[in-house]
Amino acid sequence: MRLPIRAVTPETESAEIIGWVHEVRDLGGLSFFLIRDRTGIIQVTIPKKKVPAEILEVARSVSRESVVRVQGRVKAIDKAPGGREIVPEHLEIISTAESPLPLDVAEKVPAEMDTRLDSRFLDARKPRVRSIFTIRSAVTSSATAFLASRGCVNIATPKIVAAATEGGTELFPIAYFEKEAFMNQSPQLYKQMMMAAGFEGVFEIGPIFRAEEHNTVRHLNEATSLDVEVSFADHNDVMELLEDLIVHVYESAAKNCSDALEELGVDLKVPAKPFPRIPYAEAIEIANRTIEEKLTFGDDLSPAAERAIGDTVGQHYFIVDWPTDIRPYYAMPYPDRPEFCKAFDLMHPRMELSSGAQRVHDHDLLVERIRAKGLSPESFEFYLKTFRYGMPPHAGWGLGIERLVMTMLDLGNIREAVLFPRDRHRLTP
Ligand code: ATP
Ligand code: MN
Repeated sequence: MRLPIRAVTPETESAEIIGWVHEVRDLGGLSFFLIRDRTGIIQVTIPKKKVPAEILEVARSVSRESVVRVQGRVKAIDKAPGGREIVPEHLEIISTAESPLPLDVAEKVPAEMDTRLDSRFLDARKPRVRSIFTIRSAVTSSATAFLASRGCVNIATPKIVAAATEGGTELFPIAYFEKEAFMNQSPQLYKQMMMAAGFEGVFEIGPIFRAEEHNTVRHLNEATSLDVEVSFADHNDVMELLEDLIVHVYESAAKNCSDALEELGVDLKVPAKPFPRIPYAEAIEIANRTIEEKLTFGDDLSPAAERAIGDTVGQHYFIVDWPTDIRPYYAMPYPDRPEFCKAFDLMHPRMELSSGAQRVHDHDLLVERIRAKGLSPESFEFYLKTFRYGMPPHAGWGLGIERLVMTMLDLGNIREAVLFPRDRHRLTP
């Protein structure tokens, strides 16, 4: 019976393991292998004079990253990983790896990001890389459990749509029989429609598609968004929900992913609540103290501005009270000062993590807002219809999962947080 490598201890008498050949070393009278599975690494030691000829034969021919089965006696030994080694009584190659390898899984030879992504399956054999995805899995699971505990229903909305959410041009058109269709840039309209359906709280973790031409370390053309929408809530209510979710996700990872965090050398600090709320007008003042290209009221925050504010604040924070003109039509203007709206961004000191708002729930105001953005209400009829038969006030946000994982683990490139990135130049694997 195969034992997970981690389960082999100095007390184990004999063991059978199956794993990948991580390293091969030959020291004259002794051969060493390191064998790796997802639970750990174990040393296999072959005293050449003491083992049967067939074992020597296999040991001589095996290549790195081949899959092998080893059965033998376990011995306590201080210098080996985990304080034990196996001396084989049986050694068998189950699947041979070609040489040379496209990249070095043991990371003695560093590889460029492109080389790594071209052979992502090999790259992901690295314990460090696997740890990122173990943590990403824990992030989406703990977020799902958290939102379910707050009464939100996990929904799935279409990714093939007829109209743009925001009428922007950053859409991927696709052929849909005889019709024009697009890949959805966000579940925004659909999650709002579920408020009209009386669901009161919904969430979705799913892909969003953005045909953005730029190639940066924090943009993907296919990203994963955690979207939430809640009825009878305003922007302040959903900012609290978002803040609670961030803290919960960090706490869960700190508690349940200690091995993966250690592998990555990350000492996860749970952010303190409440996150500061900084009005947009104040945010651009803070940025203008240090940045070269000054911002004026009504500008979007440049990456340099985001960094300047992040350096000043030094923790997660919200930017609130945005100019209505630079937010989407569905953001609710303040009734007493309609040039500002109830929109917010959640920021990590390094970058934007989430955008949200209380939404316009009044049909006529929404039509007016759509027109003000130069869009045509007719193309939004399927959406506007849901505002004419009893639409509760509601609010929500969308949070980028890759950016959340990237900032949690201090990764330098968003591509580290997605298995098979889609960017300006990459469509395979
Ligand atoms: P940015 O200004 O940083 O490009 P955005 O304001 O265009 O982001 P939103 O439309 O507000 O993005 O989407 C909500 C969240 O989804 C963002 O805060 C981000 O975390 C994530 N997101 C959006 N676009 C991308 C993308 N191209 N790649 C990765 N994550 C994204
Ligand atoms: Mn945004």
